[in-house]
Amino acid sequence: MPDWITHLGLGWLILEALHRKEHRLHFLVGCILPDVEKVYVVAGFLASPRLEVLVQAFFEPTHTPLGALLLSVVSTVIFSLGEEENDFSRAVGWIFSGAMLHLALDSFILVETSGGIKLLWPFSSKGFGISLIPLGDWRPAAIVAPACLATALLKRRWNRAGS
Ligand SMILES: [Zn+2]
Repeated sequence: MPDWITHLGLGWLILEALHRKEHRLHFLVGCILPDVEKVYVVAGFLASPRLEVLVQAFFEPTHTPLGALLLSVVSTVIFSLGEEENDFSRAVGWIFSGAMLHLALDSFILVETSGGIKLLWPFSSKGFGISLIPLGDWRPAAIVAPACLATALLKRRWNRAGS
């Protein structure tokens, strides 16, 4: 499920189901963080195909648990620069949780096209996956987007009824 509507929408639905208010932004950033590797497309577009290949190789580990953890720590450090982040480990934990949800959803993509999730990287580059849907399938977003809309409308109605 490579589209961000599905990644963000499902993340938001999970937060709503858990009634989580704090660290919401951290979790949602984590839901799309592994796709930071997509900067290689920009590199190829703006510079050269050779640079695109280099950047792609550099960012490839973002779709691994260890890479997601490192990204979570680095992004928490970047986001908390200039601020007094007294909840650093929790912020990392929430970003990492979102990133792991991203990897779980990406594992549904057919392994033949995605190569699977490299769970054991850097010890092994073998890809694992549930392998159910083709890359770029629109159906997950077509299910998640209306579910988010229905949840938002129901939440609004309940809030109005409660006040
Ligand atoms: Zn992804």
